[in-house]
Amino acid sequence: MNNQVFQQVLNALAQRRHQDEREEERRRLEVIAQCPRIGQLMDARREAVMKSVYSAFAAPAEENLAEKVAQWNADIKALLIRGGFPQDYLDPVFTCPLCEDTGYTGEGKKELCTCARALYAGLLEKESSFESQQDFAHFDLSVFPADVPVDKKGRTQREQLRVFRDYCEAFADALPHPDKKTLLFYGGSGLGKTYLLRCIHERARERDIASLCVTANQLIRTARKAMFSREQEEMDALFETELLLIDDLGTEPLIENVTVEELFNIINERQNAGLCTVISTNLSLENLQSRYTERVISRLLNRQTCQSLHFEGVDIRRL
Ligand SMILES: [Zn+2]
Repeated sequence: MNNQVFQQVLNALAQRRHQDEREEERRRLEVIAQCPRIGQLMDARREAVMKSVYSAFAAPAEENLAEKVAQWNADIKALLIRGGFPQDYLDPVFTCPLCEDTGYTGEGKKELCTCARALYAGLLEKESSFESQQDFAHFDLSVFPADVPVDKKGRTQREQLRVFRDYCEAFADALPHPDKKTLLFYGGSGLGKTYLLRCIHERARERDIASLCVTANQLIRTARKAMFSREQEEMDALFETELLLIDDLGTEPLIENVTVEELFNIINERQNAGLCTVISTNLSLENLQSRYTERVISRLLNRQTCQSLHFEGVDIRRL
């Protein structure tokens, strides 16, 4: 599940329920304007039901309430038909009767409804068509300078990028069981880190690997939200998705006891579960260490499980 897209699905469902309510209200006013008697019956019905709710603890409920309500319902229905309205015109309005626009069906509303799945698929397709250029096939090495060596091995920036691209492509093709399950991209901005991250994400999707791409900022926001509400779903996805890509580590706010702990938990849990994680950051190794503590960094840079790629050279957006 893609977190951002799933959030859009939830927003669309909330929007739908809002529209349902507006439509219900519009119909109610339309009917009452034409048949005031229906308005009176509805008022009487509501009043009787409310009274019985309020008095339920103090006194026995109004006698024959169910019978009376049934009679009012029948009268309203008859008047609707006589007024030329459909007999269910004042019933609750739902775009999707299966889930009543909650997005969930089944016992305790646990299953994602087909309508929510369709919304998700549509949004995902829209989103991926936006980013369709960011994949290995469109990776253009020629934008990287080929004249000056940038690393200790004497490679030029273009040669270095070719090596990194090949490594990342092999990693993506080996998912969910690549050699090293954690990748760290570090180095200055404009060196192709985010682009390569997206390429891996794209390839993973093509291969039906559950892949989630978030910025560090979104990740911390999700963690905080999960902490302060019972909405655990998005947070669970970060722990459970086969591939998690975290872009721009180091740009998120450092919130006391939250940022570092959550980051450690996610990396640690994912490594223990044998899941793959790719992280990109503009910070140097020293800055990473001072920002996230030795404990996080030693977990992250464990040589047995992690491959780090140091991006060097000049910011290609400035060329
Ligand atoms: Zn539905």
